[in-house]
Amino acid sequence: MAVSVRFVGSGDSFGSGGRFQTCILVDGPSSRFAIDFGASSLIALTQQGIEHNSIDAIVLTHLHGDHCGGVPFLLIDAMLGAKRTRPLTIAGPRDLQRRMDVMREALFPGSKMMTPKFGLTWLEMQPGRPHEILDLIVTPQAARHTAETNPTAVRVEVGGKVVAYTGDTEWTDDVAKVAAGADLLIAESYFFDKPVKWHLNYHDIAERRDRLGARRVILTHMSREMLSHVDDVPDECAHDGLVVTV
Ligand SMILES: [Zn+2]
Ligand SMILES: [Zn+2]
Repeated sequence: MAVSVRFVGSGDSFGSGGRFQTCILVDGPSSRFAIDFGASSLIALTQQGIEHNSIDAIVLTHLHGDHCGGVPFLLIDAMLGAKRTRPLTIAGPRDLQRRMDVMREALFPGSKMMTPKFGLTWLEMQPGRPHEILDLIVTPQAARHTAETNPTAVRVEVGGKVVAYTGDTEWTDDVAKVAAGADLLIAESYFFDKPVKWHLNYHDIAERRDRLGARRVILTHMSREMLSHVDDVPDECAHDGLVVTV
């Protein structure tokens, strides 16, 4: 079964290259889900002609704003202008719901009075364990990134395919587990040369590429420095609006 993956946002936190923050939209046989949903994701989806009401689930890797900060905007629009009726599942790391409630109230003071008229399910996932979400099986693994974000990398089984995403992390054996045998590994490549604490750079992935066991690797979450090397590297690099079939 073909699974379609769209890089709605392929940028870093800071607008490098004019790119939107992380949002990866996946269409499986019977559901549409987003992996991460950065603060700019509603704008990116609208620009690409996609209704956010069509998303069945959101899977979040960690609690940095460039990966989850769009959720409060989506929820408030879903309750007001977009008048969502379709149920929505939001899955992510430990303490997800409490932290997202705090984020929503910080961005839209007073919005805690609003309650959705659609079914809203929060799922806090445990690293190392598979979780059934609609027709997906999502297995997060602990990542090595800012500890306060409860960071994970994720492996998603959908329609007989495996889509894996490193999230933001240094390389670890647990991150290698999400990549093993994946049909598509989406890997952070924050910098080209510069080693950065809590992130992957180009060489971290390139040196391991042949041993990863992933059929296809696409690099994303690129800084200005990495973007200046995109045309020189042999690897596939994401751009906003890129759609691939796995
Ligand atoms: Zn990030
Ligand atoms: Zn991060």
